[in-house]
Parts: sequence; C-alpha cells; structure tokens
Amino acid sequence: MFLLFWDDIRSERELMQILPERLDYLWFLGYSLDDEIPNHSVLSKARKRWGLEVFESLFIRSVSQCVESGLVDGSKLHMDGSLVDADASKDSVVKASAELIDQLREAYGAVEAKLDGNLSNPHYQPVNRKLLSTTDPDSRCVSRKKSAGGGESRPRYKAHRAVDDKHGVITATTTTPGDVDEATQVERLINEHEANCGTTVEAAIGDSQYGTAEVMRNLQARAVRTHMKVHAGNARKDLKIFPKSDFEYKLGEDLYICPAGETLYPRRYDKRRKATEYTTGKHVCAHCQLRDACTKSKTGRTIMRHLGQELIDDAIEQSKSKEAWRDRIRRRYLMEGSFAQSANLHHFKRSRWRRLDKQRIQDYIICTIQNTKILITRSLPPKTTAEALPGLKYKIQNLNTSLKSLYKALIRKVRTRYGDNHCHSTSSINAHTILSHPFLSPFEQQPLQAKPGVSVREHNLCADSPAVRPYPFKCATNSSTPCSVDTVG
Ligand code: SF4
Repeated sequence: MFLLFWDDIRSERELMQILPERLDYLWFLGYSLDDEIPNHSVLSKARKRWGLEVFESLFIRSVSQCVESGLVDGSKLHMDGSLVDADASKDSVVKASAELIDQLREAYGAVEAKLDGNLSNPHYQPVNRKLLSTTDPDSRCVSRKKSAGGGESRPRYKAHRAVDDKHGVITATTTTPGDVDEATQVERLINEHEANCGTTVEAAIGDSQYGTAEVMRNLQARAVRTHMKVHAGNARKDLKIFPKSDFEYKLGEDLYICPAGETLYPRRYDKRRKATEYTTGKHVCAHCQLRDACTKSKTGRTIMRHLGQELIDDAIEQSKSKEAWRDRIRRRYLMEGSFAQSANLHHFKRSRWRRLDKQRIQDYIICTIQNTKILITRSLPPKTTAEALPGLKYKIQNLNTSLKSLYKALIRKVRTRYGDNHCHSTSSINAHTILSHPFLSPFEQQPLQAKPGVSVREHNLCADSPAVRPYPFKCATNSSTPCSVDTVG
C-alpha cells in the first residue's frame, strides 16, 4: 500500500502485476526473485484486518523519526484543509427531505456497524441534509471555493493538516466529510501535534477560515499566539460605517458609548455565536445627526460583543503584527507546497477506497510518505563548499570515464553494423560529430565525415547510402553509388 501511493500506481492489480519486474520493489518488500507474488486481494484483506490504528501508528512513527533527526521545531504550526473527491459519481447522489436522508444515514450506519464496526460520529450534523451519495454515504456534497476554481457540488472529503514550520514535516492530520469547517479541527490538530512531537505550540498560523472569534478565543486561552488572518464575517465593507473600535466599552457597567455619546445596552445573547448584542433606545438612532455615517439599518445600530472579547482583541492585535504577516507568507510556501506535492505525486485528490475510515488510511499513508521524503532528503547535515568540492571532482571524473566507455561502445556498434569501409573510416570517427549532430541518433545511424564542398547533413542523405533517411532532401553530390572512404576524402 505504501508503494501504491509512493509511485502513484493506478491500481492494486497493476501494482501486483509489475511487482516481479521491479527489483527495487522486491528488495523493499523482502521478496526474492523466485518468490510467489500474492494476489491483489491480499491488500484489501490486510487493510480490513489491520484497521485504522496500524496506519495511524505508522504516521506517528514517521513524525517521531523526524523529531529524533532534529527536523521538527514544534513551536510554530501551519494549518490548512483541502477537499478530496470521493470515489463516488455525482449520479450516486439522491435528493430527498432532510428526515428521509437522516433515516437513510442511520440505516447505512447500522449495516456498516454490523459489517465491520464502523460507527459514524453521532455529534456530527451535516450542513446539507437533503443530499446523500448512495455509493459513499460518509462523503458530503460540496463545491470548491471560487478561488480554487469553483465548479459543481459533488461527494467529497476534507483532509486537514498541520505542518511544522522548520522543514514542513506533517505532524498532525485528520480527515472529515467535505462540509466540516476547518476552524472546528484546530484544537484537535494542535493536541495531536503536541502529543506526536512532545512540544508545546507557541504560534498557530492559518488563513482567514481559521481566524474566527471562537478559534481566536480558545487559542489565546491556551497561550498560543494567533497569526491567522482575521475572518471577515458577514459584515459588508462597502457600507462604510463607524467601525466597532469607535465605540467605547465600559467594562464595569457592561455597556457601549457610541460616537454621538449615546449609550448602547445589552439586548439579547446569541447562543450559537456566543455573543451579546448591544443597542440604543428605540428612537435614539432615528433622531441622531451621525446616523448616515453610523448605520444603514432602519431599526438603529447594533454592536456584537463575543464571550471573552478581551482575548479576541489581543488575538486580532497579534494577527496584525509583522511577525504574523511573515508567517502567513511562509505558510503559503509550506502548506500549499505540501498539498501540491501530495496531489501531483501521491494521488491525494481522489479517494482510492470508499468510506471515511478508508479515506483516513489513505491520508495517513500519503502523509507518512511525505515525511519519509523529508527525512531522507533533510536528515543529512548540509555540506560546506569546501566539503562538497572533492565529491564534485569525483563525480566529474566518473562522468568522463562514463563518456569514454560510451564512446567505445558506439564505435563497436557502428563497426558491427556497417563494417569499417562503408561510407567512412570508423577509425577516424570524431566523437563530437556523433554526439552533436542534430539529425542522428548515435545508436541507430551512421556517423559522418564531411566531404569537401558537401555539408555533413547533405552527405548523410545520399540516396544509396545505408544511412539514407526519409527526409525530403537530395544529396548534393548526386551520386548513385555509396560514398567510400576515398570519395569522402
Ligand atoms: S446612530 Fe445611534 S449608535 Fe450611531 S452615533 Fe447615532 S445614536 Fe449613536
């Protein structure tokens, strides 16, 4: 399964077919040349028997080895999520009432539990409750963001990742249905990162999807610097009204003073947003001279104050710092690079198997592969120029030796194929002529010598020469007999 994603092989059948021909695969798997290769169905049986835990422990082991090699700093964490197309067609999606879809999900869950104990999360509430893929009921129908190309809604999963700042090692990963918000996975990723690396996170970096009030408040409460872009929310920038910072909050009295000097009192508490709404008296804003610059609402201006607003204000200040800005620039390189590598080389963008647990296995394997690559390439200490020079000289000498042996092999091949006296004398072959001629493949065509007054290319196209090729040119010599050593002169 590791090789399946390492080389992005199309299927398990294909992997088993090419296995006997690949000595590196045989060496990696511990097979000898005479060993019998098992049937491809062994892989799916092993996956079912091992379960998710084996692949999770494999991933954790790759992180531990990176930590032991000094490739993980652990203090700064970059986070992001990416959609993965489920192995289900759009035609498998059925549309029905939310109640019927819920019943169908329960029925699928019960059957699944009987088959292999895969119980879905009872606390999870899908965003779109009217669509269900009958092929892969764990996936959710979502479309990509407009910035990522947009497109149609189709069954998808979402892979969430945390990447360490030092060398881009993936230290935590989790997979959810496609409609789960990135911000809900922050705590989980940080906890997993700290458990895997044995360090404490000091700064978390993410895009605006992570910059919600709840994430900011929770991270500040656990003394993690928030270097994510602040979520814009639903506020319209084009309204151009007094910002919230123009309203003064009286901490002891729990009220706001607006720019006109009027008082805004708490009116209601929004449980979902964990925020209190403040507003003025009924007719105060209606008679205010600053009204046009303060609100476009007919009912007057309101201000929302979140639970733990002081922490959120501190978090916003931190997110505006230069260090946060630099970290967000680095995040693009690390996070986008990590996802791009997995998408381009390791079959990340499409599920190989169905159901959430299998998709988690896929993500654990891909993350393990990427960590292994970093471990191989970065674990050796960097060489200084003085240390690298002897090795470079040795490589150049080796290259010269290889070129000489290649040249000798060419001479032997030409002699065997055309003899010594046809068209030229092989003893006088100029290696530069062979290797640099634009029309000739050194292994298949006859090398050339120039005739006085005839270009090398024209000479090679002599009609009766064994070196004739289907080019629309004629030999400038107009000779009907093959050129010889004498005529070539
Ligand atoms: S519109 Fe209302 S909230 Fe705004 S400045 Fe006037 S009185 Fe104050």
